[in-house]
Amino acid sequence: MKGTGDNVVTPQGNLSDEDFNPWLRVVDLIERAGSLLELDRGLIQRIVTPERVLEVAVPVRKDSGDIEVYTGWRIQHDTSRGPGKGGIRFHQSVNRDEIAALSADMSIKTAVVNIPYGGAKGGVKVDPTELSRSELERLTRRYAFDIAQFIGPDRDIPAPDINTDTQVMSWIMDTISMLRGHNSFGVVTGKPLAIGGTLGHAGATSVGVTICTLSTLRNLGEDPVGKRVVIQGYGKVGAPLVRLLTDRGMKVVGVADIKGAISVPGGIDPAILEQHFLDAHTVVGYPGADVVPAEKLFDIPSDVAIPAALGGVITEAVANSMAAKIVVEAANGPTTGEGSAVMKERNIIAVPDVLANSGGVVASYFEWAQDLQGFLWEPEVFARRLEQTMQSAFDHVWAKRLQWGVSFRDAAIAVGVERIAEATTLRGLFP
Ligand code: NAD
Repeated sequence: MKGTGDNVVTPQGNLSDEDFNPWLRVVDLIERAGSLLELDRGLIQRIVTPERVLEVAVPVRKDSGDIEVYTGWRIQHDTSRGPGKGGIRFHQSVNRDEIAALSADMSIKTAVVNIPYGGAKGGVKVDPTELSRSELERLTRRYAFDIAQFIGPDRDIPAPDINTDTQVMSWIMDTISMLRGHNSFGVVTGKPLAIGGTLGHAGATSVGVTICTLSTLRNLGEDPVGKRVVIQGYGKVGAPLVRLLTDRGMKVVGVADIKGAISVPGGIDPAILEQHFLDAHTVVGYPGADVVPAEKLFDIPSDVAIPAALGGVITEAVANSMAAKIVVEAANGPTTGEGSAVMKERNIIAVPDVLANSGGVVASYFEWAQDLQGFLWEPEVFARRLEQTMQSAFDHVWAKRLQWGVSFRDAAIAVGVERIAEATTLRGLFP
């Protein structure tokens, strides 16, 4: 185990790339927030250090009859404010540091939006594209069994993440329900509507991104109507965004997906793009669009840039040539440290991921609350509460940013850390 300075014990083992270790990035952010808040050193250590790091072997019988053993993790970073909350990802690059960093991000995210959860994350190091559907089900159920003692509606509530979806959540919920001997709908969120899911979950992240975009423009004295926006990614987050922002009078002038980027200076028509995507499975080829090299998407003249695809895409070079003066981080971790420094020099304001993309976890909270109540909310109730929660989180972080005189990112992290510190202090030290 390596430390991160002083006596902080971290979950990291073998670091392959010291230059980009997501865990060290999170530790640095939390420690900076701790200094800003003048927290006691021991308290910062408690907040940084994950509460529980569970590593499990996940043996799966393949269709061929052979047995393959995968490694999985569930890391509960902080539960001082409520049960752990965070997704499960299946990916060949998953490792303990990454899961630890994402679990800490979740502790901060749930605190920033002030919902009664802590932070957790899970994953299995596997390439799910190499599994048949029945192998995927066996892997999911075995992993669910392996972590069963540590999850539950009042302990830790997983959700979908990369390569996991409503079906995977259904299998996990069913496995835990079989083990417990009763239905346990509240053990995971992101489920289908028929078995404890909620209306409004899909698209909730995009609703939050929209609120952050409009609020940033308004707080800077700008009218959102007619403002130009470029979006990287046309998936679960990016696609609804094109429509939501257009409905609010903004002009989406550029969109990229994995196959390329398009520029439409007059503004994209969401309905035409949706139909084109259904037919072509890419945004490329949208009628009348100019094709742009993917790496030049953020150079398209625009007022707002929204990364909604991968992490680490706003590098020093990208930040140097970026046209927009506002970035709204829909993706997780889209800006590198160097990119961030350039953005600061160029006075580009970044609405950080822990605030901008937190609409999804708020929706998960609403799903869990409905499962516990056994009562499905009206769609309007869901939409109103989502909007209120996101707006009040945005307003609070904006006010703190001005009060503390720090970047939007530092303000958001500090708001989260301050709430975790308050809960930790009030609860005191056991025994
Ligand atoms: P998704 O898989 O549905 O869509 C990803 C999109 O990115 C696709 O359109 C894909 O073509 C595009 N893409 C991939 N590589 C690209 C590249 N090199 N250049 C341009 N585009 C590329 O994923 P999603 O759920 O929309 O998530 C997008 C981001 O938002 C991720 O960083 C995710 O962690 C984050 N996020 C998602 C949610 C959610 O509710 N889905 C919540 C919080 C954060």
